[in-house]
Amino acid sequence: MSEITSSDVVKWLRLVATTLKENSDYLTELDSAIGDADHGINMKRGFEKVESKLDAMVDKDIGTILKTAGMSLIGSVGGASGPLYGTFFIEAGKEVAGKDSIGINEFAALIKRGLQGILKIGKAQRGDKTMVDALIPAIEALETAIKGGSKIHDALKSMVEAAHTGMKNTIPMLAKKGRASYLGDRSIGHQDPGATSLYLILKSAYDAWHDKE
Ligand code: ADP
Ligand code: MG
Repeated sequence: MSEITSSDVVKWLRLVATTLKENSDYLTELDSAIGDADHGINMKRGFEKVESKLDAMVDKDIGTILKTAGMSLIGSVGGASGPLYGTFFIEAGKEVAGKDSIGINEFAALIKRGLQGILKIGKAQRGDKTMVDALIPAIEALETAIKGGSKIHDALKSMVEAAHTGMKNTIPMLAKKGRASYLGDRSIGHQDPGATSLYLILKSAYDAWHDKE
């Protein structure tokens, strides 16, 4: 099985930075409907900081790369998403500390560890209309695909499709966490900005690694 290396992880994070930059206005528009219209700005700023560290990361282990990304996000993003995504990447990095290459199993384990970090600090449950509503189904689909013997390409595709469905499924949800929860029933009918950025982050992994067997 072809492996995911440190330079693949750097490639992923570079693509995340580009993708979030391209989608910054869209994410902010989503956040203007049910939040304070800063999610795109937050993600763009955070990943610009991450991007500025990447040149120095190519020869580091994957754990260090992810941890550095997480600390950059915490240090540069003021909104809820900074600590949440920061914790996601720091916890994910702990799962693969010291490793220069990982298999798809370990990628699944690292995003699962990242999710646990988000749940621990954010206390959201599935159905609360947050980023975890895209992340949980994505991890489940990835694990199912791996168990079924899928190649990296196909397993990542299943993950991204499930994240997309999870993102869309936030539309009818009533927000129970974060700023959107202040709106009560008026949060219904809008797609969650954080679930959308989460989908874009996972889609970037697929786009960066889709040539892997
Ligand atoms: P802020 O809400 O501080 O302005 P952002 O706009 O950058 O921060 O991020 C908002 C997103 O953060 C929401 O769309 C939601 O997905 C996510 N979020 C907010 N609170 C939580 C939480 N407690 N747990 C998980 N995700 C959360
Ligand atoms: Mg906001």
